[in-house]
Amino acid sequence: MAQGYLIALGSNQRHPVHGSPRGVLAAAFAALDRQGVNLLGASPVMDSAPVGPTLRRYANAAALIETRLDPDDLLDHLHTIEEQFGRRRMGQAWRSRVLDLDIALWSGGAYAVSGLTIPHIHLRHRTFVLGPGMSLAPDWRDPITGLTLRHLHSRLTRPRPLP
Ligand code: ADP
Ligand code: MG
Repeated sequence: MAQGYLIALGSNQRHPVHGSPRGVLAAAFAALDRQGVNLLGASPVMDSAPVGPTLRRYANAAALIETRLDPDDLLDHLHTIEEQFGRRRMGQAWRSRVLDLDIALWSGGAYAVSGLTIPHIHLRHRTFVLGPGMSLAPDWRDPITGLTLRHLHSRLTRPRPLP
């Protein structure tokens, strides 16, 4: 059965062929439209401040895909794509990387099996996932809070009074 996923893409390293992080994400969208996966939507790419010990800036985006792959098989597939882009998964999780592909949301709802958690644990706190995600699927609801991506995004970005 066809399943829908929202994928969060990130890059903060140049690639010898694809060039800047923006070029990496453009190539990653193409890679997400092959081998049993259909790319239904690609968000604009946004630049965001770095998270963790690396000081490079990130390029982030989101992709809406359709596939028959279950969550675990899709994660394996995403890891294979990351490796094709030269990523080696050793060492610290937040080090600089050519390409990071995370599963943000799944049409099947919530999933938590053997280290894979959907929705992604940081979904609700990252404007660089919610912003691009909202541009593709504003009414998609987080199954945990019941809130739409539009709502989660505005909750995070709305101005707040100082304490
Ligand atoms: P980051 O947290 O920066 O994305 P990694 O890409 O190295 O770091 O991911 C670390 C691990 O997180 C992966 O091996 C994967 O098993 C796990 N993980 C848990 N939930 C998810 C998810 N929703 N999408 C992608 N990876 C996930
Ligand atoms: Mg990841």
